[in-house]
Amino acid sequence: MTLNDPRTIYPTVNPQKQKQDEPGLDQELAPQSDIGVSSYVGHDRLKGRKALVTGGDSGIGAAVAIAFAREGADVAIAYLPEEQVDADRVIKAIEEAGQQAFAFPGDFTDADYCRKLVEESVGALGGLDILVNNASRQVWSEDLEAISDEEFDKTVKVNLYGNFRVTKAALAHLKPGSSIIFTSSIQAYNPSPTLLDYAMTKAGLNNLSKGLATSLIERGIRVNSVAPGPIWTPLQPSHGQPQEKIEGFGTHAPIGRAGHPVELAGAYVYLASDESSYVAGETLGVTGGTPTP
Ligand code: NAD
Ligand code: MG
Repeated sequence: MTLNDPRTIYPTVNPQKQKQDEPGLDQELAPQSDIGVSSYVGHDRLKGRKALVTGGDSGIGAAVAIAFAREGADVAIAYLPEEQVDADRVIKAIEEAGQQAFAFPGDFTDADYCRKLVEESVGALGGLDILVNNASRQVWSEDLEAISDEEFDKTVKVNLYGNFRVTKAALAHLKPGSSIIFTSSIQAYNPSPTLLDYAMTKAGLNNLSKGLATSLIERGIRVNSVAPGPIWTPLQPSHGQPQEKIEGFGTHAPIGRAGHPVELAGAYVYLASDESSYVAGETLGVTGGTPTP
């Protein structure tokens, strides 16, 4: 069997400075990142399962949605209405995998949408077995004083309130064997001075997933988190980083490069499937070699 060097297995991401409006589009990333369309191979590990992936239009969420479909799951994705072009590509990939795809655009700052998203997903899928809490916003600021109250509020509303509301609504439908996966970050442990509000929400989600795991395992529901390192997605050039950090993005990781979204897919598939039946309250770091506590 061929050995693949992890430093070079995927095309090197070496972006020039570039800016997109928030929330950013995968289609406008230069270079394009690998979300698994032509690389992820499934092995029936989620056959017959029903999954909801928030932020499933692009980046890590898109890679997870496509991988889940190739593992045999029907998948509903949530995203902002202005991301429809990215969502269309993911919906097509799910359908080409022979699975059902459902799309529910909306804004996580809207409490009613969070609850309706779950109800409509359950209705369309005919139940819910896997919830991937992946949607988040990340907008950089020079320092704490540069974060307006409105910006702080919006980041907390999307990242903490949004995840909380969707998870709470989903609990009414999750049966023993179900899995909830939060998307934390290396920022939960090593916060960047330019991402104080965002990093705080990622630490909060990591903590929530651990507390919730202890509570829900008694109901046969497993809760875990994935903590990505620097991954090349539209989150970064759409005000997620200052321009000087876009150039050479990810090269500070011990592996020497940024990750591609598809390199996260296996972690989510593992945590969603029965292969991780004894794993709850865990945070799986996918960081390119930066140690996590
Ligand atoms: P992404 O931009 O592709 O995905 C984030 C998604 O969040 C968007 O596609 C959007 O649909 C959703 N979103 C943002 N604001 C929203 C709102 N107001 N309402 C509803 N949905 C909204 O970027 P990504 O990097 O794939 O991010 C996915 C997750 O991975 C996020 O939770 C992010 O914090 C986390 N993460 C990313 C990195 C990285 O380096 N890219 C590192 C660590 C953690
Ligand atoms: Mg997107």
